[in-house]
Amino acid sequence: MSFSKKITDLKREVLKESEPLFAHIEDVAEANTLKVLDAMRECRVSDAHFNTTTGYAYDDIGRGKLEELYAKIFGAERALVRTQFVSGTHALATVLFGILRPGDELVSLTGKPYDTMQTVIGYDNPSPGSLKEFGVLYNELPMVAGKVDMAHIKDVITDKTKMVEIQRSRGYSMRSPLSIEDIRAITTEVHRIKPDCICFVDNCYGEFVDYEEPTQAGADIMAGSLIKNPGGGIAPTGGYIVGRDDLVELASYRLTAPGMGDELGASLANNRLLFQGLFLAPHVVSQAIKGAIFAAGMFAKLGYKTLPLPTEVRGDIIQAIELGSADKLIAFCGGIQKYSPVDSFAAPEPWDMPGYADKIIMAAGTFVQGASIEFSADGPLRAPYNVYLQGGLTFEHAIIGIMGAAQAVLDLDGTK
Ligand SMILES: *Cc1c(COP(=O)(O)O)cnc(C)c1O
Repeated sequence: MSFSKKITDLKREVLKESEPLFAHIEDVAEANTLKVLDAMRECRVSDAHFNTTTGYAYDDIGRGKLEELYAKIFGAERALVRTQFVSGTHALATVLFGILRPGDELVSLTGKPYDTMQTVIGYDNPSPGSLKEFGVLYNELPMVAGKVDMAHIKDVITDKTKMVEIQRSRGYSMRSPLSIEDIRAITTEVHRIKPDCICFVDNCYGEFVDYEEPTQAGADIMAGSLIKNPGGGIAPTGGYIVGRDDLVELASYRLTAPGMGDELGASLANNRLLFQGLFLAPHVVSQAIKGAIFAAGMFAKLGYKTLPLPTEVRGDIIQAIELGSADKLIAFCGGIQKYSPVDSFAAPEPWDMPGYADKIIMAAGTFVQGASIEFSADGPLRAPYNVYLQGGLTFEHAIIGIMGAAQAVLDLDGTK
């Protein structure tokens, strides 16, 4: 038998206790499905939009329609949704390099940014190609007790501050993600202090978690990855940027070339995958969040510190669990990998991932390489050895994977 009695008993107990928490998740998923369907009708999405194109791809109607749809769903003026973005970091960097000029200052209001964004900024040193090397200034406002330091925003916004960056998700840290209400309070405060300061949100892992999106709560521009929430597990690659018309246009000149912008770019991947993924995304996000709640419940009962707690309101799809040792982190990831649909025979090992300072271990037996909307777990090999668990195309898979991880950690302890 794969799972011990202790694990199967715990599963039943946790599922029962989680039931009341699922009602809210299902309500958000239904509201967002309605939002997507309404937008698809208003945009008159049709199968003529699902073709691939070649060459310059001028007048690519599928690409244009997808961008119109993203803009509508996210309550923005314009969108850039492309498989030419190689990742979320690429989409985020395109916003920064598209808009910021030498002498401008970028201020992070959520403390130290996500690992790969540090390399983009030139956080520790002006690394080749970084914003710092181009003469863009950087400052940050450290978070206080896991919250944005609202009272001191006014102290970090100066004449030079062109843009603030607000990271919605926790990244590899134990702080809480921001809620839509948090984001609204921050953008209101920034625009009160300096009306033309651009509020840029790193929305990775946040899409469809709540009824509204940051661009409906005061953000001027935001970006994210298509192999996370909005791709619904179907998009094969890519990223998106949505926001104010003039800002998205500037970003488009960075993605392609000045003068070309968003008018070129072939739909090499079947556009259907991006439309269908977007349609599925609200449901898939709900499956992932249910999995996260289940994982929190399971590991809380096993005596581990979890963030968020099983009962806390969610701002992203990530579940962090403090495992406390490298061997438990490796065992946990091994347990997840074992119950993955792809590469389940492999044992994950820590490696030097490009853009990250510490070694990272990743369990990702995914259909789309590295897609973290699919059930996956990862974490940097540094104390206190937090594992970050996310995704799950089906809640059933998440349940089984989490039982596998719990079993692997218990086996290590010698407690079955
Ligand atoms: C995933 C993520 C990114 C981008 O990472 P990619 O792997 O390049 O897609 C940026 N910021 C946060 C907070 C993220 O979670």
